Amino acid sequence: MPAPANPVSYAFERVLAEVRAGDHPGNVADYIPELAKGDPEKFAIAAASVSGHSYAAGDSTTRFTIQSISKAFVYALVLAEHGVDAVLTHVGVEPSGQAFNAISFDEQGRPANPLINAGAIVTTSLIPGTTADERLEHIRQGLSAFAGRELHCDETVAASESATGDRNRALAMLARSSGALVGTVEDTVEAYFRQCSLLVDAHDLAVMGATLANDGVNPVTEQQIVPAPVARDALSLMSSCGMYDHSGQWLFNVGLPAKSGVAGGIVAVAPGEYGIGVFSPPLDPVGNSARGVAALRMLSEEFGLHLFRHPARPVSPVSAIETDPHTATTTMRLRGSLDFVAAEQVAYEAVGIIDASGSRTLVIQAEDVTEASNVAIMLLHDLLTRARDAGIDIAVIDPDGVLRRK
Ligand code: GLN
Repeated sequence: MPAPANPVSYAFERVLAEVRAGDHPGNVADYIPELAKGDPEKFAIAAASVSGHSYAAGDSTTRFTIQSISKAFVYALVLAEHGVDAVLTHVGVEPSGQAFNAISFDEQGRPANPLINAGAIVTTSLIPGTTADERLEHIRQGLSAFAGRELHCDETVAASESATGDRNRALAMLARSSGALVGTVEDTVEAYFRQCSLLVDAHDLAVMGATLANDGVNPVTEQQIVPAPVARDALSLMSSCGMYDHSGQWLFNVGLPAKSGVAGGIVAVAPGEYGIGVFSPPLDPVGNSARGVAALRMLSEEFGLHLFRHPARPVSPVSAIETDPHTATTTMRLRGSLDFVAAEQVAYEAVGIIDASGSRTLVIQAEDVTEASNVAIMLLHDLLTRARDAGIDIAVIDPDGVLRRK
């Protein structure tokens, strides 16, 4: 018997059909002549979870050039390579409020952020390598690791962009004159054109996004691609600057860090949960995929993915509290992964129960605790020290040592 269709993929099919039926006008980009050949009817949604589960609907294996989506991932590679402080001297982190190809530099001559062309070209110049080929190879390997498969460049699109790319060369020259761009203009823009011409499909974007969602660990290959703080920094930038001069509206409506490209792709990330890739070539006036924006807005609303939604109340870290009046002993059973929020709840309940029960002994049963963050361990140790100071006997049952100070 065939396996039943997965309900998540089925929900994606429905979103595709509803968005197709709606009115989302757009035009396929033609300022890069090769992109004008994009099929306006193609439409795909794919998602990958941080547990490595994948879902897809529509034309999810159709390949297209990654374009500006590459900028977020190349920025992550550069941060991992040089560290935030060094990179910040070359490119800022402010939304520009301007179009992707704007001449956008601050008083120090830095491009406003790495997700518009000026900033992206500077970012590419910070990739190790002296020739365009060396830089591109470094980028290709890095982005392939994010996707969990070997990506390749569409040389025809890259050549087409190079032939019409004088505005990007001009941005690179301005950046070089201020010292933001290192290396030569020509090598850098050639590497940049080819980085934008790496071929991906919607599923690749989903896995790349899921890697950022998963603290920099690709959930399919289980490889750490960039350190966790770098993944967080890339997501911060995507949430403030990822959708060009539509970024504020996007955060307001959709509420997910995202990055779009002129070939019609968008990657969106639900941190700690999913990476989502969508693809539909016709672009709205800002340069974002018109149907892609509509699909992500619908997904965010229907699936409750907005970053600032009221989150579901997590399961209590205290699974049981038992008081034995004969021995004046209270036992608290803890469970799961303890972070600051969980430790705050444990401490709050412990203080309350000691007051109310009059117990003289507190037993913390931590057998079912899977992990504890540094701040959770600190709070719990502080709680126990204070309880001891108040004359309460403490026993901690922690066979795996998860509550031990690291
Ligand atoms: N390669 C494109 C360019 O530089 C990328 C722009 C985009 O996707 N917004 O013009």
